[in-house]
Amino acid sequence: MGSLSAFHKPRHFLRSLLTTRGQKADILVKVLGTAQDGGIPQIGCYCKNCQRARQDPQFLRLRPSLAILDLNETKMFIVDASPDISLQYDLVHERMERARNHKKNVPDGILLTHAHIGHYTGLMFYGYEALSADKLPVYCSKRMGEFLANNGPWSQLVKYQNISIHLLEPGTDITLTPGVSVTSFRVPHRDEYSDTLGFVIAGQKKRVLYIPDIQSWKAWDRDIREEVESVDFALLDGTFYSPEEFPGRDLSRIGHPFISTSMETLRPTAKKGKTKIYFTHLNHSNLALDPGGDAIKHITNEGFGLAQEGMELSL
Ligand SMILES: [Zn+2]
Ligand SMILES: [Zn+2]
Ligand SMILES: [Zn+2]
Repeated sequence: MGSLSAFHKPRHFLRSLLTTRGQKADILVKVLGTAQDGGIPQIGCYCKNCQRARQDPQFLRLRPSLAILDLNETKMFIVDASPDISLQYDLVHERMERARNHKKNVPDGILLTHAHIGHYTGLMFYGYEALSADKLPVYCSKRMGEFLANNGPWSQLVKYQNISIHLLEPGTDITLTPGVSVTSFRVPHRDEYSDTLGFVIAGQKKRVLYIPDIQSWKAWDRDIREEVESVDFALLDGTFYSPEEFPGRDLSRIGHPFISTSMETLRPTAKKGKTKIYFTHLNHSNLALDPGGDAIKHITNEGFGLAQEGMELSL
């Protein structure tokens, strides 16, 4: 893997979208990973996007994750335990003074969306073989909690009390710190081992909607426009840009909304300018990954953006 310093230099098209410059930032959501579960470059793939990322680390993308940082309380929470967590921790600790004086740098909690490999397998690094956390709170749905408790190797984390599972009741708020609360909700998505949650993360002034995986906006029992308009920032499933990525494939089997479709749905919302909308969870095939391509031009011209590792949203 290339140097992490690439993540400290946001790409030109994102620079104008960063929100923390010149502002007092006490509560932050920091983006730690913006790739689909396979990461970019993806194992064994030598497509243009994967090769570009191998040749220039500024195009690397890590598996999907966020940090929620309350700098007043010196508390940090991680949304989704990606298997890239070791690198992602360095992005967290740029902001956390306690990195230098706290023995283990264990987060104050982890919130999980679902049991697909990019979103929870990083839990292994909190176990006996690595960081060896002590009763690290893991917030998840009932089905996800049962999956962890009843299946190795995750059950060992529970048995050795490296983690302690706290069940989330969809639709109900939990308070992480005096300044931060999170509401979870269910979304439709492939549910082999667990159901899938999305989150609204609320700081003192602003709110972020986070939906990294969803089958489609139509399949959801909520109205995506209303949900996006009720927050300040939205980080949404942008796995694929358009059907052009799948010549000859049955599109009904693609279990994610296309960015091109989402932009059509959300165009009036983006025009209003109240909510900043970023696409994340990008597959290695995504046409928007070509920095000189039409897709990324289209995205920025329409007032949307791509999420980027290291990006901070001030709440
Ligand atoms: Zn995923
Ligand atoms: Zn590839
Ligand atoms: Zn998934």
